Amino acid sequence: MQNGDQKKLGIALVGLGGYAGGQLAPALKQTSDCYLAGIVTGTPSKIDTWKSNYNIPDKNVYNYQNFDTIKDNPAIDIVYVVLPNAMHAEYVIRAAKAGKHVITEKPMAITTEDCDRMIAACKEAGKMLSVGYRLHFEPYNLEMARLGTKKIYGNIKKMNAGFGFPIGDPTQWRLNKKLAGGGPLEDVGIYCIQGFCYTTGMDPVAVTAQEGPKTDKEKFRDVEQSLAWQLEMPNGIICEGNASYSEGMNFLKAEADKGTFELTSAFNYSGQKGYSPEGAMDLPGVNQQAKQMDDFAQAIKNKHATPVPGEMGKRDVKIIQAIYKAMVTGKRVEIS
Ligand code: NAD
Repeated sequence: MQNGDQKKLGIALVGLGGYAGGQLAPALKQTSDCYLAGIVTGTPSKIDTWKSNYNIPDKNVYNYQNFDTIKDNPAIDIVYVVLPNAMHAEYVIRAAKAGKHVITEKPMAITTEDCDRMIAACKEAGKMLSVGYRLHFEPYNLEMARLGTKKIYGNIKKMNAGFGFPIGDPTQWRLNKKLAGGGPLEDVGIYCIQGFCYTTGMDPVAVTAQEGPKTDKEKFRDVEQSLAWQLEMPNGIICEGNASYSEGMNFLKAEADKGTFELTSAFNYSGQKGYSPEGAMDLPGVNQQAKQMDDFAQAIKNKHATPVPGEMGKRDVKIIQAIYKAMVTGKRVEIS
C-alpha cells in the first residue's frame, strides 16, 4: 500500500470500447501517478480478459446498474467516462455524486445545459472534472500553442485546420444523432476548434458554416457527412475548419506575419509532424494519454487546476452548437 503523495490514484474506466481498450488502458500501464483499478461495463463477456490483463480484483468490477455503489470503494479515486457522447452527462453526474473525481471524454456533452449540470455536480461534491483533451500534453501541439500565443513569428493572420476519415460500419453510434449529438464536427472537428483556441490563445466570437454534400444519404441520414466552418476571433482573424466522415485529413496551420507554422499530421495518438519557418520541428514522441491522466492525478494530489477543465469542455460544446446553428440557418451566429 502506498501512502501520501506517493500513492497512485485508482482510475475506473466506464465503457470498455475501442478508446478505453486500445489507448487508455495500455497508457495506464505507463503512468506514474495513477493506475487502472476498476472497470464499469455492460458487457459481462469482457470482464475476465480485462481482469487478467490489468490485474483487477472482483470488488472493483461494476456494471451500469450497480455503478453508484462505487461510492463505497476507496480504491477508486477517479472515474473516466469513455461512453458514447450523449451518455457522458449521466455518468459524470453519477460519478460525482459517488464522491469521485471525473474525467469525461470529448465532446463533454451534447448541450451546454448538460455541461452546466456536470460542472455543478462536481463542484457540489468537491471533486475535480476534466475532459480527455490529450493534445494539451502532446509536444507538437504544445509547440503550436507556444509559437502562436508568444507571437514567435508575429501576429497570426489566419488559421486552417481539418480532421476527417472515412467512417466504416453504418450501424455505429457515431452515425446516430441521439448518441453522438452530430457527425464529424462532434467527433473530430472538435480537435480543429481546440487547435484554433490554443494556438491563438483566444475564443471565437462568431461563426459561419456550410454543410458538405451527402454522397451516401442512407449512411448519413442522421448526421452531416462533412462540413466547413469559419470562426471569427476577437481580433478579426478567421480560422477555417473542416471535418469529414468521408475524406481523410489531419492538419493545423497558422499563417503569421513572419511565416507559417503548421502540423501536417496534427491530431493522431502519435506520429505528429510539424514545420515552422525554421524547418521541421523535432520534438519527442510521448504517450499522450499517460501524460494526460498523470497530470490530472497530480492536479488532484497537489490541489492545482487542470489545464483541461469542464469549463473548457463547455466552451467547445457552445462553439459546436453555434457552428450547427450557422450550418442550419446559413447565417452568421454570434458566440456569447
Ligand atoms: P466505442 O464504440 O468503441 O465504445 C463505446 C463503448 O460504450 C462500448 O464499450 C459500448 O459497449 C459502450 N456503450 C454503452 N452503452 C452504449 C450504447 N447505448 N451504444 C453504444 N455503445 C454503448 O467508442 P469509442 O471510440 O471508445 O468512444 C467512446 C468515447 O471516447 C466517445 O465519447 C469518443 O468521442 C471518445 N474518444 C476519444 C478519443 C480521444 O482521442 N480522446 C478517441 C476515441 C474516442
